[in-house]
Amino acid sequence: MAREQDHILHRGIGMTSQRTRERLIQRLYEEGISNAKVLEVIRRTPRHLFVDEALSHRAYEDTALPIGHNQTISQPYMVARMSELLLEAGPLDKVMEIGTGSGYQTAVLSQLVERVFSVERIKVLQDRAKERLVELNLRNVVFRWGDGWEGWPALAPYNGIIVTAVATDVPQALLDQLAPGGRLVIPVGSGEVQQLMLIIREEQGFSRRVLGAVRFVPLLNGPLA
Ligand code: SAH
Repeated sequence: MAREQDHILHRGIGMTSQRTRERLIQRLYEEGISNAKVLEVIRRTPRHLFVDEALSHRAYEDTALPIGHNQTISQPYMVARMSELLLEAGPLDKVMEIGTGSGYQTAVLSQLVERVFSVERIKVLQDRAKERLVELNLRNVVFRWGDGWEGWPALAPYNGIIVTAVATDVPQALLDQLAPGGRLVIPVGSGEVQQLMLIIREEQGFSRRVLGAVRFVPLLNGPLA
């Protein structure tokens, strides 16, 4: 991000001092995030701009926060972990994200991969996220208002797909839209019983790794105006 944007980054910063932000990075590192690029991108991404001003003093806590419409901005640890899993085998050019929400994960990803294709079902959330990314001059992202269960077939295949809401089953369309060697990071389950999974498209079929219990809002059906 360019220096001339400093004024935007510091808007409404209030209690979110640089020290608070450094503490978050230290915590993520201690919790096992080891990809230096991911940590660096989280360090420089102003999470306080992705929540309501009334919550901005909590923006650098390692916790999910409400963003309206019964949705939440993901916990920084989860954003870091999922990004790290996507990038584990090397750089990625085309990544699809399901569940734009506030656009925070989108903003992080856009600084780690070449292009991001982000799908969201709630139009107003998507519009706000779009504005934030423009403000931050993150321009390698395109948005689709639609149903993440269907992915974004017209622009497939993707080298990486990340889903930021929990699916009852792995959507077939997302498997279909993975490039050979492509990686899908997705929480699967419902209610209290959810597991983060990494699915890789191998030469023959798919490999699956279960990475542990997580907590996400549900992947719902259909777009919503
Ligand atoms: N990564 C986002 C997380 C938002 S919460 C952030 O950090 O802000 C999950 C998001 O998934 C919500 O915005 C919700 O509206 C969206 N979502 C749920 N079901 C969906 C579907 N079927 N298609 C697209 N988006 C969906």
